[in-house]
Amino acid sequence: MDKKQLSKAIKALAKIYKVRAETGDPFEILVHGILSTRTKDTTTFPAQKRLLGKADSPYKMMHMKTSDIEKLIYPVGFYKTKSKLLKEACSVLIEKFHGKVPRNKKDLISIPGVGNKVAALVLVWAFGLPYIPVDTHVNRIAQRLGAVKPKEKPEKTEEILETMLPKNLRLITNHILVQFGRDTCKPIAPKCYRCPIYSYCEYDKKGYYRNKLISK
Ligand code: SF4
Repeated sequence: MDKKQLSKAIKALAKIYKVRAETGDPFEILVHGILSTRTKDTTTFPAQKRLLGKADSPYKMMHMKTSDIEKLIYPVGFYKTKSKLLKEACSVLIEKFHGKVPRNKKDLISIPGVGNKVAALVLVWAFGLPYIPVDTHVNRIAQRLGAVKPKEKPEKTEEILETMLPKNLRLITNHILVQFGRDTCKPIAPKCYRCPIYSYCEYDKKGYYRNKLISK
C-alpha cells in the first residue's frame, strides 16, 4: 500500500466514523493515557472521572495518598503500579515543567508512566499536533493494509504512518482506526466481507474473509 492509497482509505473511513480533531485539557489527557494502558475505555473513563473529581491538578494529585488513588482508579489494570506512577508523574511535572504538561515528545517520555503511545496521545489530543498514537488496533490494521511490515513495532509503525499521511489525516487516524478495529477489522475474524476499504487492503488476498458473506 502506498501513501495515496492509505490517504484514500483513511478518508473513506473518516466519512463513516465522522471523527473531528478536538483537543482537551492536557493534564486530563495525560492521566487518561497513563490509566488507559492495558485497560478498556469503559473502565478507564469512569476511573479517570473519579480521580480527577478529587484532584484536577498535578499539585493536588501529588499530595494524595497512594492508597486513596488506588481506591479511586480500581479496577483499572495494574492500578497499584499506576497509582505510584501518577504520583511520580505529578512530581516530575511540578519539578521539571512548572506543573504544566510539556508539548514535545522528548519531555513527555521523561515522565514516569509515559511511553511513546501515551506521549503521542497527549500531543494529538491535548495540543492538536499531528501525531498518531499506535495501539494494538492501529498497529494491526496498518499491518493488514500493508502500510507497514507484519509484526512491525508500534514505534516504527507510528514513524511510518506519520510520514505517509498528511497532517489533517494524522490528527484523526487513531480515533478512526480504533473504532474501525473494534467493529470491523477485529483481531480475530475481521469482517472483510463488509469492509469499506477492502479494495485497498492486502490482508485477504485469497478472499477467505470476504467470502464469509457468501457462505452465510
Ligand atoms: S479488508 Fe479485512 S483485514 Fe483489510 S482492513 Fe478491511 S476488515 Fe481489515
